[in-house]
Amino acid sequence: MIASSDPIIQIRGLRAGYGETVILDQISFSVNCGEIFAILGGSGSGKSTLLKHIIGLYPPRAGEVLIEGKNLVTLEGRERTQLLQRFGVMYQNGALFGSMTVRENVRVPLDVFTNLPLKIRNAIVDAKLAQVDLLAAAEKLPSELSGGMRKRAAIARAMALDPAIVFLDEPSAGLDPVSSADLDNLIKRLAKEFTITFVMVTHELESIFSIADRVILLDGRTKGILAEG
Ligand code: ATP
Ligand code: MG
Repeated sequence: MIASSDPIIQIRGLRAGYGETVILDQISFSVNCGEIFAILGGSGSGKSTLLKHIIGLYPPRAGEVLIEGKNLVTLEGRERTQLLQRFGVMYQNGALFGSMTVRENVRVPLDVFTNLPLKIRNAIVDAKLAQVDLLAAAEKLPSELSGGMRKRAAIARAMALDPAIVFLDEPSAGLDPVSSADLDNLIKRLAKEFTITFVMVTHELESIFSIADRVILLDGRTKGILAEG
């Protein structure tokens, strides 16, 4: 067991890239339990790459990523599955299925890591929809929703399995300032009410100022962290 005061995520000396290209180097930081942690940086600076390495989609070239003190790279079998099930992920531009209702979208098995059939009961799905204030829209199709509502549905989907850590890649992309602020408030409320740790990639300085407990700024040029605060 790790103490609750220990960081829920620890990144030490991470190097990451694709093929020959190094995108991130010497990245070290930690995220505390229950905090809203923001990853900021220019386009192409490696924000999504960092997120994908934290959730274990790719193994690091060097350094390590520890989640609750455990290294996903060396973890196997049931232990790995259990740790991955503590994640909720909303990928960049992660769209809803257009032909499915909001309720069906939140219900779909989205476990990209384990391929386990996820049996989520309707009562649980509806509880998630209520948490994001979308219960009244449960039977609607995504095309009938506003941009902000679609984002909230995607967040409900990421939260379907009661994750401890929710990763959001550009949640407010494409939203007007009012919807974006609403979404920020929702994230803040969820973090507080359910002690969820949010790791959020964003371009929006507004979001950082209003809800982030901490922020790192990635620098595409040096491939490292330019600032931290
Ligand atoms: P944006 O703000 O545009 O979302 P980002 O900070 O999330 O950018 P990444 O998507 O992490 O940036 O991309 C960082 C660099 O890695 C870019 O140069 C990109 O072209 C490259 N890259 C991203 N994904 C892959 C991949 N699967 N294969 C090869 N190169 C990739
Ligand atoms: Mg990105």
